[in-house]
Amino acid sequence: MQQRVAFIGLGNMGGPMAANLLAADFAVTVFDLAQEACAMLAEQGATVATSALDAAQSVDFLISMLPAGKHVAGLYLGDDGLLATLDTNTTVLDCSTIDAETAREVGEAAAARGIGFLDAPVSGGVAAAQAGTLAFMCGGDAGVFHKAQAVLDVMGRASFHAGPAGAGQVAKACNNMLLAVHMLGTCEALAMGERHGLDPARLSEIMLASSGRNWSLEVYNPWPDVMEGSPASKGYQPGFMVDLMAKDLGLAMDVAQTAGIDNRMGQLAQTLYSEHQSAGNGSRDFSSVLERYRSDS
Ligand code: NAD
Repeated sequence: MQQRVAFIGLGNMGGPMAANLLAADFAVTVFDLAQEACAMLAEQGATVATSALDAAQSVDFLISMLPAGKHVAGLYLGDDGLLATLDTNTTVLDCSTIDAETAREVGEAAAARGIGFLDAPVSGGVAAAQAGTLAFMCGGDAGVFHKAQAVLDVMGRASFHAGPAGAGQVAKACNNMLLAVHMLGTCEALAMGERHGLDPARLSEIMLASSGRNWSLEVYNPWPDVMEGSPASKGYQPGFMVDLMAKDLGLAMDVAQTAGIDNRMGQLAQTLYSEHQSAGNGSRDFSSVLERYRSDS
């Protein structure tokens, strides 16, 4: 029997994720506050609901992809929230990147009603959302994670059970803090070498074959024209926006603080990215942070 999915939040990420479920023959009902976003999915075969509550009626899976914790709490919690009335057979996945505390709160409220819930933030960006190659990091019950494979496998190439409710958001915060640190380190190293007369492409080649090798160098070289098709070679068009990195670093600072961990590397990355954001770079790709080293010259 065709499985039914409700999808709430059809922005840059949610739109293509819902489209992939439609292409895989799920019956998808969608809702977004923006009518144009709903209309785009309707053209691809989705049913448009009049509200989130309307969309969530009698579905096997309910998936949300919203901007921040306050939107997720507003959707699920309280007397008017979806969890108050949702069918207990529905499996819920929140794929938004939000604070771990809200994710735990929503997970606990779902568990109290016997509803299976996962916090399931993603890595990969818009291109991976379109290609169905996202990586999901999930927090919640292992049985619910197993059940969710039916939809995770359609939208992504890898999914991980990180631990109990909130663990997906913690994993995402750890990953993106590390990404910020190695992108900044890569920029610093390339700028340092170039200032001493080295060709950034040759230096990249050397470090890729040496112990400085990392993802930013490998698939996302921040120096223009070193790597064909990278955001750096396309005027730093995103890609992954500085605004989103700044948001994710804020979430990572909360995770570090509640754990009482000394995260000075992450704090410095947050300072450098927020300076870059304040200098008017918020909507550019996050690898544009290289320019702070180049313009310092
Ligand atoms: P977006 O702003 O493009 O989309 C969010 C959508 O949610 C909008 O269409 C908005 O109208 C809708 N919305 C907001 N509140 C709503 C509500 N109460 N009910 C229904 N619809 C509502 O954002 P995005 O880029 O799609 O990002 C979504 C999430 O994914 C964020 O948490 C972001 O941090 C995360 N993320 C984004 C990327 C990326 O590269 N864009 C990568 C990984 C993770």
